[in-house]
Amino acid sequence: DDARLSAELRDMSGASYGRYKSLQGDWDFGDFTLTIDKVQSDPFAPPSRVSVLIPADVAELPESAWRSPVRRRATADFLARRAFRVLKGSRLRIDVGGQEVIDRASVQIEEGALRLRLGIEMPGHGRRIDGRTAEHELCERLPDLVDALCWPELDTRAAVAFADTVEDTAALRDQLPGLGLVAFVADGSVLPRRSGVSDLPMDGEGKAVPFTAPETLRVTVDLPHRGEVQGMGVPEGITLIVGGGFHGKSTLLHALERGVYDHVPGDGRELVATRPDAVKIRAEEGRRVERTDVGSFVRNLPTGADTGDFSTDNASGSTSQAANVSEALEAGSATLLVDEDTTATNLMIRDARMQKLVHGDREPLTPFVDLVRPLHRHHGVSTVLVMGGSGDYFDVADTVIMLDGYRPSDVTERARRLAAERVDADFTLPAHRVVDARSVNATARGRARLKRRDMDVLTFGENDIDVRSLAQLVDPGQITGVGLAMRLLAEGGLLDGGRTLSEGLDALDERLATGGVTALGRGYLGDYALPRRFEIAATLNRLRSLRIAR
Ligand code: ADP
Ligand code: MG
Repeated sequence: DDARLSAELRDMSGASYGRYKSLQGDWDFGDFTLTIDKVQSDPFAPPSRVSVLIPADVAELPESAWRSPVRRRATADFLARRAFRVLKGSRLRIDVGGQEVIDRASVQIEEGALRLRLGIEMPGHGRRIDGRTAEHELCERLPDLVDALCWPELDTRAAVAFADTVEDTAALRDQLPGLGLVAFVADGSVLPRRSGVSDLPMDGEGKAVPFTAPETLRVTVDLPHRGEVQGMGVPEGITLIVGGGFHGKSTLLHALERGVYDHVPGDGRELVATRPDAVKIRAEEGRRVERTDVGSFVRNLPTGADTGDFSTDNASGSTSQAANVSEALEAGSATLLVDEDTTATNLMIRDARMQKLVHGDREPLTPFVDLVRPLHRHHGVSTVLVMGGSGDYFDVADTVIMLDGYRPSDVTERARRLAAERVDADFTLPAHRVVDARSVNATARGRARLKRRDMDVLTFGENDIDVRSLAQLVDPGQITGVGLAMRLLAEGGLLDGGRTLSEGLDALDERLATGGVTALGRGYLGDYALPRRFEIAATLNRLRSLRIAR
């Protein structure tokens, strides 16, 4: 078929662009099959979509590279990165990750066979077909790419090392609950990034201060490939990160946020692991809230609204943060990550003088400092909190880590001596809500509409959803993945039959555990990557059309 495709493309040269559509379908190249799934209608439209199936006996991947789900994801990711490099200067495009290793649709391994999903800008001279260039891309560059991805052509040592690294991180994360830890940061880790807009490790000789654990928090773990590794264990309970401004507090917390994902070798955070249910909590003024129970944080509002069943189109800083906590817990999180830089101060603390001035019924808010201990004692929810500006949390912290010039020390005892008695408030877990699936509608003007704008907005049907405050959406593909997941929840019946949102998410997780990320696709031809249930729930909660049935 490849000779036939060559001939057809040459033959089409100069014809009107629309004739490319006649190429849709399968082309047997002998070693692999090319499927032209969807052809763009003009040269300026989004790229056409093709897929490539390389059978196992051609790809020659050893079973050790893909038999376990973790190694399969890692090897696929390694191949995507290689494909990306091989395709430099080509009109073929492959979706590839940043510093995290996330299951994505662009490269999938199925029983040793490789499936690639690619974009291609079909070449044209104006609105006429450029057959020669098309032939070069599809009949020369594509077979070269396939060759480059077969095991004998790979730097197999690098491929194995890549999968080993990912497997170690995953094993480390799996060990956390047994060690009573919510996170681990290995000695020698490099946490700071190159800049606010680059996720690459900070470079420059001697610039980044490598992480070293304080003796009292030092833990040794045993990993399948690296063996024994030492580092700082962040225990369950309430952990406070303190220190002067610019001493690296937020950088440590950011690393913990990202620690729910695995990182590529050389990232510096390969051995930073956080419980998979950890959710970053922040204030988010202006967000919509639909029937969320924020009653533990907010008693009575001046409007008289029922805070146990709270809705607003325009939340304040404190109510948005309270809703974010409730919704994270509803989605199943038992690990909260909080940074003073992005919180509503009035929800975090209330000092004695303010209590004297504004007291009783005039202050509806119960500050987080009174709730964080019952959250752990009664509901098993741990919190890691950056707080450099107030000592109030000394009263409730189990562990206090001080950063000084990026070096952590354990100051728990010193903080305890400064602590005061504090009476806890009550925390009642939010009720599980049932979503009206009809309010989660991906269609606009009769057609499915799912679009992403940068890392900022997901267009879902007729709604634009602002996802900028979701710190743990780390890959553009995840945003599309969230959209697909929301569609599957609503259209796939996962929210039907009185199922609660959290039960719907359980059902979704089950499908993803067996089917991988492509269980989300169901005929979707674009690029996407696997999101977590917490970001799926968070995005759904921000959908302005969302209706809660009960
Ligand atoms: P804080 O939250 O304590 O005010 P940040 O975490 O924002 O401080 O860090 C302040 C600056 O220090 C940032 O520019 C960050 O990149 C840099 N930084 C953080 N950790 C390190 C480190 N280990 N080595 C070198 N620079 C660091
Ligand atoms: Mg900070």
